[in-house]
Amino acid sequence: MMTPASRFIVHNDLRAGYLSVKEEIDSAILRVLDSGWYILGKEVRAFEEEFAAYIGVRFGIGVGSGTEALHLAMRACGIIPGDEVITVSHTAVATVAAIELCGAKPVLVDILPDTFLIDPEKIERAITPQTKAIIPVHLYGQVADMEAVRSIAKRYGLRFIEDCAQSHGALLKGRRSGSWGDLGAFSFYPTKNLGAMGDGGMVVTDDPELAERVRGLRQYGWHQRYVSEFPGVNSRLDELQAAILRVKLRYLDRWNELRREKANRYTTLLEGLGIYCPIAKEPQQHVYHLYVIRVKHRDRLKTFLKERGIETLIHYPIPIHLQKGYQHLGYRIGSLPVTESCSDEILSLPLYPEISESDIEEVATQIAHFMKASHGSI
Ligand SMILES: *Cc1c(COP(=O)(O)O)cnc(C)c1O
Repeated sequence: MMTPASRFIVHNDLRAGYLSVKEEIDSAILRVLDSGWYILGKEVRAFEEEFAAYIGVRFGIGVGSGTEALHLAMRACGIIPGDEVITVSHTAVATVAAIELCGAKPVLVDILPDTFLIDPEKIERAITPQTKAIIPVHLYGQVADMEAVRSIAKRYGLRFIEDCAQSHGALLKGRRSGSWGDLGAFSFYPTKNLGAMGDGGMVVTDDPELAERVRGLRQYGWHQRYVSEFPGVNSRLDELQAAILRVKLRYLDRWNELRREKANRYTTLLEGLGIYCPIAKEPQQHVYHLYVIRVKHRDRLKTFLKERGIETLIHYPIPIHLQKGYQHLGYRIGSLPVTESCSDEILSLPLYPEISESDIEEVATQIAHFMKASHGSI
């Protein structure tokens, strides 16, 4: 018989994050309300500068979401209908949706089975005369092989845009994610490592011309009010979100360090159970947006944990190339074998900066029970 769970362990607790800096956020919000200026003002400008400096690039342009950051980064590179853009199928649908917002064709390649990140060898094989850009995704908080991607992009004359929606603050060889490519695209969706209290995004770049293009594109192609230099869209970060994000940016490194500590604790506790745990080649490479294990009988483990009051999620249960909404891309089962086998075995465990040590231990203990029990019965 199952014993009723004494408490519920959630996958993420956004309220705990808010409460940890409540006074500063409340006063930032009141400051904006009182200013009488709500769109593209002082807060957005200050946050763009602070975030760009944090990433280690010259320019940041606040936009409406991570999807829009990717879309406008591609538009700034001149990507148009008929072009092809290479990315992975093992990502948030947003990456692929952004490519289609440009009218371009997403070309999806397979990942490496140990890191779940883009396989550089597969990129080269996917390049055609129509290819214009590569978008590596730093999934789960870990930076992809930037040196390999950069050298391929150089060799073939392609643009290189990083999807950093899950990697705020992650470092590879001392450089932050977002500073490797021609442009980096960030999301501030509430669950991200740096999350707003609504939607938001940012494009970062070192290139002044690309920065100017994105700045125009986010607001009807304006450099000057009411004067459109080219067709644009409405995709702006608002003052309230920028003010909140300015507070949270000051805590990002500390929160990422807490995520790393808790992730390492999981890895220690789960050792020897026959579960594949995430590994980082460099300690600061990973900011553990998600702690994703790989395990056989994943669905049974998920149910087992749920019955014991532990919430887990799957990022992502259906690879994009097999989703109903993306059948027009022309892939089928077997097209991307590594991606497909991962999606059957991955499970995201509860992880956020404020999660308690005892919750982590409880999750690990229950996983150990399941693994020992399933040894006999499966
Ligand atoms: C969240 C996310 C996005 C999209 O960000 P939104 O702000 O939700 O539009 C893009 N790519 C990845 C990998 C994401 O996780």
